Amino acid sequence: METRLRIAVQKSGRLSEKSLKIIRDCGIKFGSDSRLLKEEADNFPIEFLYLRDDDIPRYVYDGVADIGIVGRNEFDEQDLPLEELKDLGFSKCRLSIAVPEGFPYHGLKSLEGLRIATSYPGILAKKLKEATVDARIYEISGSVEITPAIGVADAICDLVSTGATLASNGLREVEAIYYSTAIMIGHPGLSMEKRAILDRLMLRVDAVMRADDYKYIMFNLPKEHLDQAAAIIGGMKSPTVTPLLDESWCAVQSVVQESRFWDVLEQLKALGAQGILVTAIEKMAD
Ligand code: ATP
Ligand code: ZN
Repeated sequence: METRLRIAVQKSGRLSEKSLKIIRDCGIKFGSDSRLLKEEADNFPIEFLYLRDDDIPRYVYDGVADIGIVGRNEFDEQDLPLEELKDLGFSKCRLSIAVPEGFPYHGLKSLEGLRIATSYPGILAKKLKEATVDARIYEISGSVEITPAIGVADAICDLVSTGATLASNGLREVEAIYYSTAIMIGHPGLSMEKRAILDRLMLRVDAVMRADDYKYIMFNLPKEHLDQAAAIIGGMKSPTVTPLLDESWCAVQSVVQESRFWDVLEQLKALGAQGILVTAIEKMAD
């Protein structure tokens, strides 16, 4: 039987869609039928296990799955000896302390002796210890935000992305104690065969992620400004320069980091660049 790398992804939730998208962007074809527990890809030796996110680190640790995609929060909370393969950057959120409106909060010290409800007791305990705050942690698996209203806790520590859920429960976010994104984790003792499949997969994941980080840019420029333009673009290699019929001008092509894009565009315009064309990059490998 052919060896397949088994990847655990969240069955249904905030991570599911983006986890599957990144694999699909790697050119890997599969049905993504979330009613299934297990599914094989058609054109790459991997198979999917669709699980609850909380179970993913454990399954990878036990070797039921070889790799998995999970929030860093879940990975750190469970604190299992797994390999962190890559930060995938999506599903950004933070773990924050929130208190009822009117609660006088002046830093973690304000929580001394109080009850804090959370689904992340490990991460919270570590943070409180660092701040030498002694509080009582109530571990709750869901709907943490209702606990102050029903008198179970004085404050909460919960995942937030926009804060809308907190506000609708009369709570105020006062301090972020931890930041999370989705990460790819792996079983530390993969066989040579599986490691080889993983290397192939990671090459593709890197190419997909890098492509997202860059734009392809083309423009015409008076030749005399070429050195300045190259300095503005910076980046990995010198740009490709093609002569134009008008000998005082040239055409330039290069890649620019998305985060610097607008800045670069403005500076190039100021140098006299014309006909600036920008396109997305689909894949980008070294
Ligand atoms: P499951 O049924 O798989 O146990 P869940 O309800 O525990 O699902 P989700 O709410 O889907 O989990 O969140 C999964 C992960 O998505 C979180 O662990 C976190 O890493 C990330 N995430 C991103 N934004 C948020 C947010 N606003 N609230 C909660 N989690 C978020
Ligand atoms: Zn969960």
